[in-house]
Formats: sequence, C-alpha cells, structure tokens
Amino acid sequence: MNTSVIGYPRIGRGRELKFASEKYFKGEFTAAGLQQAAKTLRRAHWIMQSVNGIKFIPSNDFSLYDAMLDTAVLLNAVPRRYRELPADSLGKYFAMARGYQGVRGDVRALAMKKWFNTNYHYIVPEIDDDTNIRLSGTKPFDEYVEAKNIGIDTKPVLIGAFTFLKLARFTGSKTAADFAPAVAEAYGIILAKLSALGAQWVQFDEPFLATDLSDGDRKLFTQLYDVILASKGTAKALVQTYFGDVRDCWDELCGSAFDGIGLDFIEGRKSLELVTECCFPEEKTLFAGVINGRNIWRADYAKTLELISKLRAHCSSVVLSTSCSLLHVPYSVKRESKLPESAGVCLAFAEEKLSELSELQMLADSAAVEETAEYKANRAVFSGARAAEDGERVNCEVRSKIASLSDQDFTRPPVFAERRNIQKRRLSLPLFPTTTIGSFPQTAEVRAMRAAYRKGTVSTEEYEKFIKKEISRCVAFQESIGLDVIVHGEFERTDMVEYFGGLLDGFIFTANGWVQSYGTRCVKPPIIWGDVSRPHAMTVKWAQYAQSLTQKAVKGMLTGPVTILNWSFPREDIPLKDIALQIALAIRAEVLDLEAAGIRIIQIDEAALREKLPLRRSEWRSAYLDWAIPAFRLTHSGVRAETQIHTHMCYSEFADIIRDIDDMDADVITFEASRSDLSLLDTLKECNFRTAVGPGVYDIHSPRVPSVEEIKTALKKMQEKLPAEKLWVNPDCGLKTRGEEETARSLINLVEAAHCVRAETSVQL
Ligand code: GLN
Ligand code: ZN
Repeated sequence: MNTSVIGYPRIGRGRELKFASEKYFKGEFTAAGLQQAAKTLRRAHWIMQSVNGIKFIPSNDFSLYDAMLDTAVLLNAVPRRYRELPADSLGKYFAMARGYQGVRGDVRALAMKKWFNTNYHYIVPEIDDDTNIRLSGTKPFDEYVEAKNIGIDTKPVLIGAFTFLKLARFTGSKTAADFAPAVAEAYGIILAKLSALGAQWVQFDEPFLATDLSDGDRKLFTQLYDVILASKGTAKALVQTYFGDVRDCWDELCGSAFDGIGLDFIEGRKSLELVTECCFPEEKTLFAGVINGRNIWRADYAKTLELISKLRAHCSSVVLSTSCSLLHVPYSVKRESKLPESAGVCLAFAEEKLSELSELQMLADSAAVEETAEYKANRAVFSGARAAEDGERVNCEVRSKIASLSDQDFTRPPVFAERRNIQKRRLSLPLFPTTTIGSFPQTAEVRAMRAAYRKGTVSTEEYEKFIKKEISRCVAFQESIGLDVIVHGEFERTDMVEYFGGLLDGFIFTANGWVQSYGTRCVKPPIIWGDVSRPHAMTVKWAQYAQSLTQKAVKGMLTGPVTILNWSFPREDIPLKDIALQIALAIRAEVLDLEAAGIRIIQIDEAALREKLPLRRSEWRSAYLDWAIPAFRLTHSGVRAETQIHTHMCYSEFADIIRDIDDMDADVITFEASRSDLSLLDTLKECNFRTAVGPGVYDIHSPRVPSVEEIKTALKKMQEKLPAEKLWVNPDCGLKTRGEEETARSLINLVEAAHCVRAETSVQL
C-alpha cells in the first residue's frame, strides 16, 4: 500500500511566505526575492514529505496567494480591469487578490469567499461573456519540473474543472455550461503536457462533488471529464473529493475514465457505505482519506486500521491519504514547548500526520500489529488521554448542568412583543437608534500595550489604567458625536475568540499553530481540550467602568458559543453539541453577571454561525442548526424582560436560514448589508422577520468615508421595506481594523444621517 497527501500548508513553518510577501508589497523585496522565498518553501515541503516516505507528494498545491486565483490566471480568466493595469504579471496577480492603487486609479480586488465550510478564503474568479478561456501559464509544469530537479517525482494537483466552474462568478449572460468546452480543452492540454513531462498521476480536486448536485451538475461534470481525460497519455488521473461524501455522483465517478477516486472517510458520512455496498470499480485505485486534514488530534490507529481493512476487502488497490489538504492545520507540534504534556502528546499537525500515514501503511501490512512499537505508542496516547479525563479534561459540575437542562433553559420569557414594549419604556431610545458593532480602532499604542502586558513588561495595574483611559476616551468620543448606544471599544481584546478562550477553562493555546486564513493572513485557533467553564467574570469590569462614565446605555459585548466553537479546533471525544452547550453555559453566566452589574443591553456576536452549515442542505438542521440555535438561546434565556439582547453577524446571506435566525430570539440583530445592495431586506419583509434589525449602512472593510447623503439613501431604502420602529443604524462590522480619523468622520456622518431621517420620519408619523 502507498501513501498520498492531497496538499501541504504553504505559508511556511515560521510564516516565511507571509513576511516575504509583505516585504514585496512594501517594495522592500523584489519579485525575484519573493519567488526565491517561495521556492525555498516548496523545496522544504517536498523534502519533508519525501523523508516521511509519502509516495504521492503533491506539487502545484503551493500558491503565492490562493489556488483558485492561480487557476483563474492559468486559464486566462483575468478580467479586463486587471489586464489593463500598468503592472507586470505578478503585479496583476496581486491586484486581483488585493486590489490596486496607483497613479492610474484604483482597481478593486476580486471577491473572497470561504472555501466550503472551512475558515480558509478563496478568491472568486470572475468570468465575463468575452473571457477567452485558454491555457495561459506554466505554473503546474514549472513546479513539477522544479521538484523533479531535486529528485522528487510529484503528483501535480489542479483545482478540478467542475469545481472551478461551479465556484466562479459569471458576470454576463453566459453560464458555466457555455464555458465548459473551452475549459475542458484547456484542462486537456494541461493534462497532456504533464503527462509528456513524465507525471505518473495528476490530481483533480473536486470538492464540489461533495455538495448537493443537480442533474445539470452531473451532466457538466461528465461532459468536462469526457473531454479532459481523453488527453491522459501515459499519466493516470485521480479525482480527489473531500469535505463530505459523493453520494450524488457515485455512478458518474465509477463510470468515468479516472484511474483513481479519492474519498473522504472522516467527513464523508456515506463514504464507507458507498465503497462497501455500491461496488467500487475493480480497475480503479481508492485514495482513502483516513487521516483528518482538518483537525489536530492524533489518529486512533485501532479504529483506522479496522477501516483500512474493510476498504481493502472491497477494493483491489488502496492508497492511504489525508482526508483533505493539510492546509487547514499548523505545521508541527515540535514547535510547541508550552503545551501541557498530557495534551501535547495527543496532537498531530501536518508533519505528525505525515508520519501517521507512513506508520499506518507499515502497520496495515504487518502480521502482529499489536506487538509493534508504533501501535503500542498510539494506544498509550489514547489511554493517557482517557486518564487525563479525571483531572484536567472532565468537569463534573458542567456535565451535570448540561445533563439537567430542560426546555425552559432554552426559552426566554416573556414573548418577544411583550419584551419589546418593556424595553422601549426602559431604554427610551429615539427612532433609528445609532450604535456601533463593538470594537473601535486599535492604535499601535493599544497593540503595543497589550503585547507588553502579555510579555510581563507592564504591570497589571499599569495595563488596566491604560485600558481604562482608552475606554473613557472612546466613551467620551461617542457621547460627543451623539451615538445613542455606547460601547467600551474592546481595547483589551486581540481577537473575539482568543480573548474568551484565554479566560475560559478548557482551552489551550499554541505558540506557533498558525493556519492560513487567506493570502498573507493567518490565524492561530485555540484548541478545546477539556470541558469548558468560566472560572470568573470576563468582561464585567470593563463594561461596568464604561457604564460609570455615561448616562446612556452601554452595550456589553460577548462572543457567542457557536462562533467560539467554530473558530477553534474542537475535541473529538464528545459531540460538538455538548461543547457548544458548555460554552453557552459559560457565556450565560457572563450575561447574567453583566445584567446584575447594571448593563441594560448585551450583544452576543455570532460572526461564524453560518459558515459551518453542512454542505448538504438535508443535514443543515439535524447535524447543525438543531443544536447551534439552542446553544445561542441558552446564553440569554435567563435575563429579565427589560434587558435587551443583540446579536451580530458578519454577512447577509442568511435568506435560507432566516427562520432559524429569528428563532435565536434576540431582540436586535446587526449584520453586513452595505455590500449586498440590501437585497436581504426583501426577504426580511416577506418572512415577517420579527427581530429588530441594524443592516450595516456602510462598509468598514475599506477606509472610504461614506457621505451623509449616501447613508441617508441607504436608510430610506431600508425604510421602504421595514417599519421604522424596527430599524437600527450602525456600521456593518467592528471598527478594529480602521484608522481613528476615518472612523470619526464616518460615524459623524452616520449620526447626522440618522438625525435627518429621524426628523423626516417623525413628521410623517
Ligand atoms: N464585536 C466585534 C467587533 O466589533 C464583532 C467582530 C466581528 O463581527 N467580526 O470587533
Ligand atoms: Zn462582523
């Protein structure tokens, strides 16, 4: 049996690619310097996989920014606005990724979207009616040859033609089907060239096959690959799927000319059943994704070997593989020296996963598996983890609270309409109340102070004095410009999940566990290691201080349980639902403490609620929303009627889960709307959406200052669709990444626009 890796992280163990790119953007590095840094990384990654005995090592999985963007460029799908820029090809490439600002004007970047249900963002290719799809690059060939020159024969990886077309945005009247012949022809040429260069296998990544497919989708897939695979030559072709199972196209895959089919046995609920019951074709090789590419725990060898033996009983040829690209996990546990011993041994990042693959390969063919050192070591990890249950991982009090939850704990009395009237009287807010989403600009000084405090070079006293000074400056500013609901500004937080993870029991943190989120941006997700609980209040001190400075209501600011869970690496020994409920109980305690401290409005952010929706619609409720929404409700069901609960989401695409959003039973929801033509408003109206709404009136992702007129227009549009009493006025997300000056000007305009519309509306009423 052989081993295969679908893709490897590319940002570098020490985030070398990030730093080299940033230098290049600043003009401190030449293009050649950047390319050299990239080459050094590719080489290191190939060698690492090679010394671990991986047979099918990927090439062309590397990218200077993103693989979808690379594919667009390779296929000549470069919109005119970039082609016409006075820049070299690398300059145009980065203009597509990040926008371009120069003497000849500004060009906006291509859109970015989350890659299926991961936290990685890809660049969305734009295809215009006159886009001339053809092979227009050499990247896959160059990287194949580059590896070959250091003696490593790789498996070139391409984003498959089907997934590429399904994820692209068509700006004109033509559709994917119109471009299919040209796309198929270009892929055919690429395949033929790789084959001519000597590639033995070529991998086509087709994760879109793991979603709900229509007849048209199946037809498109077949149509594309009937043409592409005719150019195989001596190379073999692998269709690599991941993030789910391929129940919707099993017959098409089995009947295709692919030589290998890659299936995900970690996230593919039906993958095993498909192989064992629907007959895996005799002549094809199964690339079995048995090592989790998305989570960071060691594989349980006993279970994995059992799975492998079942697969071997049904397939004539099996290759062991990761379940998806290792892009989604950090580089190596070896770089972590501060983790608790008991947890550290349970972890496997990319490098450890390579050795797991080769150990499993060896064990699967060994006669006395249980006698081997590798197997015994693996057993020891799992019994050690169980032993750790008693002490650090299990909190009996939390578990018994979860076990005794009843329907009442998920229902907030009294009903929405009644609460609304009570809150109206208590808060006496004007029509179109103005507020912000929570964070204010984080100046270099704020960041430096936090870093110094973390390092211990600044005392707690000094640090807290500084944060208080920032809070009072922030509150005074908001009062001076007339915002109605005040926030404290979140100066004490680096990140909305890390901050709470750091204060809750049950989380552990890596020192170098960086994962690419997009381009040069990396995140370091916390790891949920044990039962979650709240040893002490987390935000009350700051909220209370802010409230002491003003008569106006200060909005307490928390991150919700689903978002904390989704942006962490979850443990696997208890269901996600239970983890969510544990976090919810901790947040609930914080909500109640804020209320007791006199905070009248509390916002519980669920920025990441949508992104973990299962890929298949039929599983949305049963596998996710049925516990995610209750977890949110649990956080606030204990507050008094007069306490107003807000939530916030960083997107507006929730038309298809609109009932569930209403079911969260918040009093107010703020969300991103400024970039989406406010089209969600129609849906809100049609569905009689109950929760009051604050659709963001301007885009905080750009430094642009919106004019009063512009904001008024947005507000008037909102008013056409929704009753004035239901509307809030706010930016579309937190202001943390913006500059102070542009923020002040934008908010001043926001308040003025709200005043104008308020005056006009009050006259009419
Ligand atoms: N309250 C958070 C902030 O303002 C929300 C951030 C987010 O939605 N991503 O920063
Ligand atoms: Zn947001």
